[in-house]
Amino acid sequence: MDIEFNLKQIRAKIEESARKANRDPDEIRLIAVTKYVSAEQINQALACGITDIAESRVQNALTKLPLIQTGITKHFIGTLQTNKVKPVIENFDLIHSVDRMSLVEELAKQADKLGKRVSFLIQLNISGEATKHGLDPDELPGFIDNLTHYSNLEPCGLMTMAPLEADPEAVRPVFRKLKELFDKYAQRADILPKWRFLSMGMSQDYQIAIEEGSNMVRIGTAIFNSHK
Ligand SMILES: *Cc1c(COP(=O)(O)O)cnc(C)c1O
Repeated sequence: MDIEFNLKQIRAKIEESARKANRDPDEIRLIAVTKYVSAEQINQALACGITDIAESRVQNALTKLPLIQTGITKHFIGTLQTNKVKPVIENFDLIHSVDRMSLVEELAKQADKLGKRVSFLIQLNISGEATKHGLDPDELPGFIDNLTHYSNLEPCGLMTMAPLEADPEAVRPVFRKLKELFDKYAQRADILPKWRFLSMGMSQDYQIAIEEGSNMVRIGTAIFNSHK
């Protein structure tokens, strides 16, 4: 395993894709997905300049977080059960996986109790795969209307997971669609003042996601060579 080598390659590819799309590479945030790796490996990645990590299982993350260097940004990207909302709000800076109203209500309730504001992304299921979590894009307008009732919640953008395809090009329309929806709501600063993150792209498909406008890529396997 050579985290430093992997990161160098990934950064070069991010830059290459950004240039191809006439974008500034500095506007793309590289998030290291650390769900399958130890605190020691996380610290190695941090030593190589990683500033953002993402976890998907609450219990597992809580055992590792106290062992890692402070001052980094922590993202929660997993399926979020309502009974885990409190520890997630307490330990993470941005939640990428908000996909239903019952979860929004619980986030607002716990945020209120903790006297915190909660930043999050809305996860959409663009491909319509039954196995994928995420809100149906047709429900997005109503969902956003409802969000405006909660003053302690800050919707910051959109997230999706593309289907696993043998041909990475097959996911391009999924990313294009998410970017279109992202841009539409970027014009609603009146109701969405913090709207700024488009989280799409994983080890398999981040270069295409960047070409299609992603500004947050979530990469695990390609950094750590870890396997499920
Ligand atoms: C695991 C995971 C990733 C990272 O996947 P890799 O293929 O290992 O890069 C990204 N996003 C989410 C939501 C994940 O669960």
